[in-house]
Amino acid sequence: MPRAILATLGARDRLLVDGVAVLAAHCNVSDSSVIRLDDLAEHALHPEDGVMAACFAGETSFVVAAARPRAVRALLTFGGVACDDLNIAWLALPFDREALKREYGVPWYPVIDRTRCSGCGTCHDYCLFSVYSREPRNATAERVRVTSPLNCKTGCPACSRLCPEAALIFPFCAEAELNGEIEAPQRRSPEALADALGDDPMRVLAERRAKRQLIDREKFVQAERDRMLYSGTL
Ligand code: SF4
Ligand code: SF4
Repeated sequence: MPRAILATLGARDRLLVDGVAVLAAHCNVSDSSVIRLDDLAEHALHPEDGVMAACFAGETSFVVAAARPRAVRALLTFGGVACDDLNIAWLALPFDREALKREYGVPWYPVIDRTRCSGCGTCHDYCLFSVYSREPRNATAERVRVTSPLNCKTGCPACSRLCPEAALIFPFCAEAELNGEIEAPQRRSPEALADALGDDPMRVLAERRAKRQLIDREKFVQAERDRMLYSGTL
């Protein structure tokens, strides 16, 4: 019998159903058998507290229910749980989107869907606050990691709009395209960026990437609005 785990992302991430009861019924177990993994975004920042590891220890088969399973998967991976090595069935539960609009969930930071990230570096180059680092993946390629998550500006999802692979997830964002709610979001259509930038500091990024045509212009404009709104810095 797989272990039933109800994961909640944080205190402001409210389910619209009794998650324990729904998961217990789904797994045909008693409510008391359901293990709760609350405040996942906090525990993923501090995996040394052992909370996440304990939930997945001693078993290889799981049913994990959550508001946004893809966000949970990325947070677990960020916190060191090897989801790919485990047999996990995911159950999406309805959540209160309006609550996320009223009050930002915290801690607010991005996580990377490793199944989609190409390592292009756009997020790293775009972020003014050193949230990301680049490191060698192998002899010929780099990978990007979130190494200073709390440098991110609460409420700002700017860089996620520019990710060509739609691999960046802001778990508490109210927008379905950015919060992991959509299991397979559309990759962003490539469009030349360089001539749209003028004197913007992103010119450097544009020049570096002009030939690769990675970023959708509309997404870039929205991301710049976000960045000004939330950081006050350009
Ligand atoms: S922009 Fe997206 S695909 Fe590129 S490195 Fe960042 S997360 Fe990965
Ligand atoms: S949302 Fe803004 S501050 Fe946060 S990681 Fe992206 S670019 Fe950096």
